[in-house]
Amino acid sequence: MRTKPYTEIGIKRVPCFRCGHPSFHQWQVCSLNNEYKGLCADCDIELNRLVLNFMGVPAKEIACLMDEYEHFARGL
Ligand SMILES: [Zn+2]
Repeated sequence: MRTKPYTEIGIKRVPCFRCGHPSFHQWQVCSLNNEYKGLCADCDIELNRLVLNFMGVPAKEIACLMDEYEHFARGL
């Protein structure tokens, strides 16, 4: 069980928790014993979008935020 965050290099060796592609980012999920889970760029982007939606952020604002975040998440 991973209770400490992965390093920037280490995370790339972890398969995405959702789809198995190489991870790019990590999330710590309370309901999974606060274990750190790797996520690829695509899954990380979708999870961020889902969370913003869940938090009630207006759709227009989500579009702007996610446009900016996608550049970061894909390392562009
Ligand atoms: Zn993935």
